[in-house]
Amino acid sequence: LVEGLEAITDLPCETLDNHRVALWVNTGLMADVMRSLERGAEGVGLYRTEVPFLLRDRFPSEEEQRKIYREQLKAFHPNPVTMRTLDIGGDKSLPYFPIEEANPFLGWRGIRVTLDHPEIFLSQIRAMLKASEGLDNLRIMLPMISSVSELESAQVLIYRAFHELLDENYAISLPPIGVMVEVPAAVYQARELAARVDFLSVGSNDLTQYLLAVDRNNGRVAGMYESLHPAVLRALKDIVEHSHSQGTPVSICGELAGDPGAAMLLVAMGYDVLSMNATNLPKVKAALRAITVEDAEELLAQVIEFPDAPSVNHSVDEFLKEAG
Ligand code: PEP
Ligand code: MG
Repeated sequence: LVEGLEAITDLPCETLDNHRVALWVNTGLMADVMRSLERGAEGVGLYRTEVPFLLRDRFPSEEEQRKIYREQLKAFHPNPVTMRTLDIGGDKSLPYFPIEEANPFLGWRGIRVTLDHPEIFLSQIRAMLKASEGLDNLRIMLPMISSVSELESAQVLIYRAFHELLDENYAISLPPIGVMVEVPAAVYQARELAARVDFLSVGSNDLTQYLLAVDRNNGRVAGMYESLHPAVLRALKDIVEHSHSQGTPVSICGELAGDPGAAMLLVAMGYDVLSMNATNLPKVKAALRAITVEDAEELLAQVIEFPDAPSVNHSVDEFLKEAG
C-alpha cells in the first residue's frame, strides 16, 4: 500500500470527474518541510510560528525570526506559505511567558495576547515581511479571531509594519491576509470577516472543541470529540457558503482535512484548499482520486441530515469502502 501511495506523489489530486483539489500541508519544524516536499505538497496552509518560539528560552529577536521564516518561504517557493501569527495560550504556553488561568482555552490566547502586546505582534509581522522580500509567497493568517474589530485592529498593525518597512526601503508587497475560523462566533460572522480578507481558513481542531464544548486534550471526554458530528458538518458547510458569497476562497487546516472520509465531504462542500499533516497527504490524495465530486455531494446531502455522528461515520466508511 505504501508503494502504491508513493507512486501517486507526482500525480495531481484530481477526482474521477476531473475536479482538481489543492492539497497543502501544515508545518512547524524544518523536518515537516522535508516530508512535505517529498510528498508533493503544493503549498503550506498553516505554518505554526509558535513552534520556533517554543524551542527557545526567550522571545526570538526580529532578526532570528526573519531567518527562520525566510527558510520556510524559500523551501516552498514559489508555492504559497501561510504563516499564522503567534498562537500561544490555551494548551501552548511559553516557559518564559507563563500564562496561568482557570480556563486557558477560554482565556488569553492567540490574537488576544498579541493585540495586548503589539510589540510582539509587530516584530513578528516585520520579520515575516522582511523574509518575503524578493519571494512574494507569504500569506499571513490570524488565529482565534472572534470579532470584526479584532481583525481590524490586527490589520492596522500589519499595515503599519508594512509602511514602516517601505520607508526603510524594503522591496516588499502586501501579502494576502486571512483569518482562521475556529471560534463559533466567527462561523456566524464568516460573511463579514470574508468581506474584509483575502481568505478564510477553518481550524477544525478548535472549532470542534468549542462547538461541542469538549476539551480537545482531555482523555476523559475524548469519545465525545466527534469530528463528524452533524453540528460540525453544518458549521463547516455554512462557512464555505458565507465565504464564497463574498468571493473569498476558504481552506481548512485542522486535522479533519487529513482524514480521507472527511476530505471527501469537505471537497463536496466546496473547500478550495485542504491543508494537512504531510503524513496524511498521500492517503487523502488516493481517496480523492477514487471518487467523483458528484457522488461525494450526494453523500454529503444525506449525512448532513443524520441525527448523530456514529451514523455519519458509518455511511462515510461504507462510501470509502465502495470507492476502494
Ligand atoms: C485548529 O485549531 O484546527 C488549528 C489548525 O490550529 P491549532 O491546532 O494549532 O490550534
Ligand atoms: Mg486552533
